[in-house]
Amino acid sequence: MLIRTGDTVEVIAGNGRGTRSRVIKVDRVTGKAIVEGVNRVYKHIRRSQKYPQGGRLSKEMPVQLSNLKFLCSSCGAASRLGARYLADGSKERYCKKCGAGAGQIAPAKAVHAAAGAGKNTLAATATKK
Ligand SMILES: [Zn+2]
Repeated sequence: MLIRTGDTVEVIAGNGRGTRSRVIKVDRVTGKAIVEGVNRVYKHIRRSQKYPQGGRLSKEMPVQLSNLKFLCSSCGAASRLGARYLADGSKERYCKKCGAGAGQIAPAKAVHAAAGAGKNTLAATATKK
């Protein structure tokens, strides 16, 4: 689950298919995310202190994370995300299409620094291509 709040994603299934928008919130427990402008519904509101008139409220409902694809800012393609360790031992997300980094997800740790980390390091990923 590498999609984070603030990412730009493309919706690949459902009513909003093809829409490119921003992730407002990710719920790791249910595996869903709220995406701006996607899956909007009208919620009917009863008369209350807060809404003396009652009425309809338009809001986004969560969509399944598997229906979203990360939109890479450097190659512009909808792609999948991978995770890898950098030479200094920090972990980052990267675009599986062009290999560009997409932000750090864990601080540097000596155990994962260049010498010891064999798999999934920046160098190892680069040679795979
Ligand atoms: Zn990319």
